[in-house]
Amino acid sequence: MTDRRPFIKERLFCPGPTPVSNEAKIASLDASAYHRTQSFYDMFLRCRKMLAPIMGTKSLPLILTSSGTGAMEAALVNLTNEGDEVLTARAGKFGERWGKIANAYKCKGHTLEVKWGETPKGDDFKNYLAKHTQIKAVFLQANETSTGVVFPLDEIVSAIKEVSSCLIIIDAISALGAHKISMDELGVDCIVSGSQKGFGIPPGLSFIALSDRGWKSISSRPRFYFDLEIEEKGQKKGITAWTPATSLVASLEVSLNTLHKIGLSEVIDHHEKMAKAVRSGVQNFGLELLAQSSYSNALTAIKLPDHIDGGALIARLKNKYGAVFSGGQDQLKGKIIRFAHLGFSDRFDVISGMAALEFALKEEGFDGKLGSGVSALMKSLL
Ligand SMILES: *Cc1c(COP(=O)(O)O)cnc(C)c1O
Repeated sequence: MTDRRPFIKERLFCPGPTPVSNEAKIASLDASAYHRTQSFYDMFLRCRKMLAPIMGTKSLPLILTSSGTGAMEAALVNLTNEGDEVLTARAGKFGERWGKIANAYKCKGHTLEVKWGETPKGDDFKNYLAKHTQIKAVFLQANETSTGVVFPLDEIVSAIKEVSSCLIIIDAISALGAHKISMDELGVDCIVSGSQKGFGIPPGLSFIALSDRGWKSISSRPRFYFDLEIEEKGQKKGITAWTPATSLVASLEVSLNTLHKIGLSEVIDHHEKMAKAVRSGVQNFGLELLAQSSYSNALTAIKLPDHIDGGALIARLKNKYGAVFSGGQDQLKGKIIRFAHLGFSDRFDVISGMAALEFALKEEGFDGKLGSGVSALMKSLL
């Protein structure tokens, strides 16, 4: 349960889970749906079809019951063999996660080290791959959620293709809905995502799409739960291999309907405007952004001045203001705060987030002019 304290509403500003609409919540109340019925198969197929344009592909994405990391693992297990050489870009926690999964499954991992808060460039991949021609697959992020940057995927993918025909797999878990990502237009082999980010439903479902070349490149490793060929065989008819999270599928249908009713380009425009407004607000309040460019539309990573204790700030935001923010991880722990505007958050959400941040920062000893962030944010949204 969320906290119920007098006059403190809880609001989510963490980059997943994101706010869930009442309609999506209500849909999940029909918790007794049996997944081996034609009506469930029909709903499942409607979801697959509505996911395809969001992932920018004509092939129907698979829906798995797992968090986003499950789809990352499924991608790696189904598209690599033991001993394969793979390349990842460690621009933050999630790039690191690709490396860890590759390591767990005994791939030979290569890593491009990227300063946290920056993105790798096309040439970084091109130069590396030109020297290491045995690399079979590149695993990267669309958004690095731990630092709030969006990768220049067009540039990176075309640079990779100049020197290599390796598979390209993209973790778009926090990017879908906030940025236009098209598997088919980019010409990549696999895209993964998850339910609790731009889709605005609780965690528990993940999505994975494969290109024709991806399907032809399925590996021969042992696997069980995440066997994509077995899934595809059943999911063609809406039948999952295992018991799916049925209540989440019901919520997913509602969210997907909403996203399509709004229109995908409108959804992305909205995120772009919200992100711009938040950047303008925090800068006008006297704070610096972690990234200098390649800002994500999903979330904004904000540097904290040295005299501010990030942990205390986040606790104050939560306890006194009901505002749930995320901090930094590892080398950024205590040093940044992450302000998400992903999924179905609206202008009044970000205005309250900014106001809460101003209050809490003032109380933690930061010398900013109260209201200056909110004012700039509102002007940007006008
Ligand atoms: C949230 C996120 C994940 C992990 O998803 P889980 O649902 O926590 O397993 C992976 N990659 C990125 C970029 C994310 O934002």
